[in-house]
Amino acid sequence: MNLYDLTRDELKALLVNWGFSPFHTTRLWSYLYLDLVTEISAESMPEIPPKVRARFAAEASLGVLPTAQETDSSDGFTRKYLLRLNDDEKIETVLMRYTGRVTACISSQVGCAMGCVFCATGQMGYTRHLTAGEIVAQAVHVARVLRALSREAKASAGVSPVRLRNIVLMGMGEPLHNYDAVMRAIDIIHDGNGLALAADRITLSTVGVVPGILRLAAEQRPQHLAVSLHAATQPERAALVPAARKWPLDELMAACRTYSKTTGRRIFYEWTLIEGKNDTPEQARAVGALLQGLPAQVNLIPLNPTSGYDGVPTRTEAARTFQKILSEEFAVPSTMRQRRGIDIAAGCGQLAVADRTG
Ligand code: SAH
Ligand code: SF4
Repeated sequence: MNLYDLTRDELKALLVNWGFSPFHTTRLWSYLYLDLVTEISAESMPEIPPKVRARFAAEASLGVLPTAQETDSSDGFTRKYLLRLNDDEKIETVLMRYTGRVTACISSQVGCAMGCVFCATGQMGYTRHLTAGEIVAQAVHVARVLRALSREAKASAGVSPVRLRNIVLMGMGEPLHNYDAVMRAIDIIHDGNGLALAADRITLSTVGVVPGILRLAAEQRPQHLAVSLHAATQPERAALVPAARKWPLDELMAACRTYSKTTGRRIFYEWTLIEGKNDTPEQARAVGALLQGLPAQVNLIPLNPTSGYDGVPTRTEAARTFQKILSEEFAVPSTMRQRRGIDIAAGCGQLAVADRTG
């Protein structure tokens, strides 16, 4: 049993089930998610009675993910962690520091089954789902790193500590293909007595898994939703995103409309700009027409290089024209994703585990 897998209610039920007082729940939870302890021990959990601790030590573990490798980008804003799972698989977690905010980009699967042609994770194929505990452990890992960084900064310049405030599920994997584990992890990360990430600071990005989007709507999930669109016609989209054959564009857009109507929230639509593939003025008009009038914002992401795809990113000028058409002709707002971490392959879609044996 991995303690990071349990919601606070489940932890409480476990204590009761073992014949202990439920009042230990709050203290245990704060050891896990505020003190960010790395083990179940007398030193790390002094206020938990020895009997209780012994039971946990005997029957549970703390699924801390050891760092196999750590890389800093040359601009100093992005740090990529290769984390080792206990079956020796590895995943990547990225810490991004933009001005005034810190975001963790976390993975939901080892590899991905969706096979988008331009994505390094898609190119490596699917190995397995992550457990909720493995998803939570990534957030805890980043929170620990930030604590260490802000202690260093504080010691040197009197800077106030930086807490983890934003999480994007845009690392390796398709989060809606691993729905239950992802939602459980989100609930744990969101819990107000622990990491306490606000629901509107958590963004989940999907390739367009229609049943998952409808389920998010039905469950009134409060997180932000991003949908990877990349093309505005079915044949063009299916060529880039094989999953579009299973969930065609018209079904996807119907699900998006249902989602926005039910939740009252706007959706972010991601568009990886690939020169000569999906960046012409006509294609800008097609996506403008598709999204016009919907609560939508387009996130344009110039293609990041991957070894398995020879496309190149749209040039700045063509990207600006694309953006201008969206805003001026269709009143569809858009942003251009800042290019970060490209030199260490920590940009969108570059996450793959190159050395899977080491
Ligand atoms: N599986 C989810 C989330 C992970 S990918 C999804 O596909 O939405 C996060 C975003 O990066 C997606 O919009 C994805 O299409 C985009 N992306 C993938 N590969 C990319 C690349 N090489 N360059 C730029 N963006 C890429
Ligand atoms: Fe999977 Fe997303 Fe990559 Fe597509 S873009 S292969 S869905 S991780």
